[in-house]
Amino acid sequence: MEASSKKPVRLRMAPSPTGYLHIGTARTTLFNWLYARHIGGVFVLRMEDTDKERSKPEYEIQLIEGLHWLGLEWDEGPDIDESGKLVSKGEYGPYRQSERTDIYKKYLEKLLSEGKAYYCYCTAEELEAQRQSMEADGVSPKYSGKCRSLTSPPSDRKSSVIRFKVAEEKVSFKDLIRGTVEFDAALMGDIVIAKDLDTPLYNFAVVVDDYEMRISHVVRGEDHIANTPKQILIQKALDFETPVYAHVPLILNSDRSKLSKRKNKASLLEYRDDGYLPEAMCNFMALLGWHPSADDREILSLEEISKEFTIERVQKAGAIFDKNKLDWINSQYIKKLSEVDLAEKLTPLLETKRGVVDKKILNKLIALERDRIKTLSEFVDATALFFELPDYGGKILTWRKSNPQEAREVLMEAIELMKGADEEFFEDKEALSNLIAPLLTKHEKGSVFWPIRVALSGSETSPDPLDIACVVGRRETVKRLEIALGKIGSAI
Ligand code: GLU
Repeated sequence: MEASSKKPVRLRMAPSPTGYLHIGTARTTLFNWLYARHIGGVFVLRMEDTDKERSKPEYEIQLIEGLHWLGLEWDEGPDIDESGKLVSKGEYGPYRQSERTDIYKKYLEKLLSEGKAYYCYCTAEELEAQRQSMEADGVSPKYSGKCRSLTSPPSDRKSSVIRFKVAEEKVSFKDLIRGTVEFDAALMGDIVIAKDLDTPLYNFAVVVDDYEMRISHVVRGEDHIANTPKQILIQKALDFETPVYAHVPLILNSDRSKLSKRKNKASLLEYRDDGYLPEAMCNFMALLGWHPSADDREILSLEEISKEFTIERVQKAGAIFDKNKLDWINSQYIKKLSEVDLAEKLTPLLETKRGVVDKKILNKLIALERDRIKTLSEFVDATALFFELPDYGGKILTWRKSNPQEAREVLMEAIELMKGADEEFFEDKEALSNLIAPLLTKHEKGSVFWPIRVALSGSETSPDPLDIACVVGRRETVKRLEIALGKIGSAI
């Protein structure tokens, strides 16, 4: 039986806190969240931490930090206040499987008592031997069913697991993205659903939770597609309704391999640390497998996307992770930020690298760089030269059509003009340009600006040297010109 359309729409994200927050997990969370918002449903977060060895609190913290950063809040959780009411939005839960052992136990006992599950005592060696003999007979290996009909535990066995009796039937379901999907359960064999009554495994716990949490739509990565028939059979055995399924495509590198650390960064928080904006990240991730119906707009707010977002429009094919597109989207969001907002975002990043930064200087830098940068970290790198002059060799101070003597003269004359000038000349590029105009009556433009550019930036390619001077001010400009003079002196 499939969920009827009148039932409340409830979605969930069910990550396992066993590693860093992968972009794929973040994107699946986003799809769940978007659809819940689109339809006016509920979005639930559930930590699937049944794997006690691999689940770590620090990974859960990272997951939650990442979702908060993206602004993907969940709507409910297990926490209630003294009066029994759920605590305010954003402070809930999440649900944790490790806190729900009693619930799973109840259903495990039910399956056992109804003969739909049984204790299996086969050892690892026995299972391996069964597997090998089936392979030798040319059949695809599955559990032989040896312990299915035991009436009491074998006297020599201490350890056991709980197996679910898999019916030998065809299981099919309608996936919202891929259409009808069919599996032959006869090939599966009885599956292990718990190590013991207190230790359920993924396929079982997920079924119980989706039922108990009244999940209507399961939207998850396509790597779970082979788990779906197992879960449907467990649902049937427990008389649960089957939710609607949608398996979203994987995210791929440009060579169509699975998104991995080697080719692209795959951890969401690394993008945050590299200076991507959460709004840009959400916009980019939404377009990994989905696009708006009416046009080819690419810059869309979460609100705009959620208005249009339906699961049926998610594509079946793998979605290519295009880093250039992410950079472009991020640069568009940076351009859209107000100066005040951009300054607020840049300040902590700048301060870790450069110490306290004067507000006036920061605003000047923003005016110079905001249209050029793709990420906030690029801003920090691109503006490094304003804070500290990079080291360079005196040879590059001479323009190709000039000579070191002329470069020396230009530097000396520039120092002369600037030293005595009022600080106000350094507030305004035009005034500064007028101040050094006399140099252009004696020298070619390149002979003047080349050595000044190198002197102020330590490099042959840099922002306009007059812009640099207007940011660093008179004293620092003169100091940098004097350093250059020292370098050219030794280069002559
Ligand atoms: N816990 C599973 C995972 O981390 C997801 C389970 C599901 O969505 O059904 O991949």
